[in-house]
Amino acid sequence: MSELHKFLFDGLPVRGMVVRLTDTWTEMLRRRASNTESGAYAAPVQQLLGELLAAAALMQANIKFDGALVVQISGDGPVKLAVAEVQPDLAMRATATVIGSVPADASLSAMVNVGNLGRCAITLDPKNRFPGQQPYQGVVPLFGDRGEKLEKLSDVLQHYMLQSEQLDTTMVLAANDTLAAGLLIQRLPSQGAGNLSGATHRVRDEDEIGVNEHYNRIALLASSLKREELLGLDVDTILRRLFWEESVTRFEPLTGDTGPRFACSCSRAKVGAMIVSLGVAEAESIIEERGEIEVACEFCGVQYRFDPVDAAQLFHPAAARPDGTSTAH
Ligand SMILES: [Zn+2]
Repeated sequence: MSELHKFLFDGLPVRGMVVRLTDTWTEMLRRRASNTESGAYAAPVQQLLGELLAAAALMQANIKFDGALVVQISGDGPVKLAVAEVQPDLAMRATATVIGSVPADASLSAMVNVGNLGRCAITLDPKNRFPGQQPYQGVVPLFGDRGEKLEKLSDVLQHYMLQSEQLDTTMVLAANDTLAAGLLIQRLPSQGAGNLSGATHRVRDEDEIGVNEHYNRIALLASSLKREELLGLDVDTILRRLFWEESVTRFEPLTGDTGPRFACSCSRAKVGAMIVSLGVAEAESIIEERGEIEVACEFCGVQYRFDPVDAAQLFHPAAARPDGTSTAH
């Protein structure tokens, strides 16, 4: 079963998390593989998307925010888009759009950053947005300070965390066809509960970047974790091997109904709204060509069909029937 573990280093300004997505991840892969149009992900895409999902789970569990956290990479290679979305209750979904073939040994840059135009965007979308409110979004490139292409997703996200939160963060990510997993270590803000409360705290936190000896020691231990270990060992063994000299307090793991799990938030109503946004002319031309409008959810594969009557009702929901009843659903 999928699980998320949180822990603290006693008396030190450092916290950590481990996530292991098993059934959550294989359910997404199964649905993708059964899509006859796209087929299963090539191995490097599977690894990228699994790591993206594990990272999004860690980032969502690391903040107090009532809304979806979305991590997406838009690329200039064969992988046009890879996106993972995690809700505050750890319900999650992910998908990738691939055009053309991806070689079995493709690097991150060969997939999404051929001409250094790839971007990683992190979006926080509040659950109850007031009218006109925009989701918060931060964007980082897929290259480092000297323009060098980054080949590890964890390097891209660590860069983002440092920029956006002024907090040192270390991530180790890995994924294969049965597991998507991640380890996160983060230095806690120097004062109080958060770093969004005032400019003074921000400056203090910036001053602390890279200099906290406890964080540096623990981060070094964390980054010694190998991909095969993260994929092959259980959480107890990983934490014992890495931090056997540290005093660690662990919390009850989140699993089952309160833990990470696959869930898609698509609905017929949302697809209908999307068709309306295309405009009546576009909708009519699709119906003329194909006899109906058929939309498959990219995340879960569910197909939504709108025949000409359904489509007409989308555009005229309040249209009254001759008997005076409404046709609106
Ligand atoms: Zn769906």
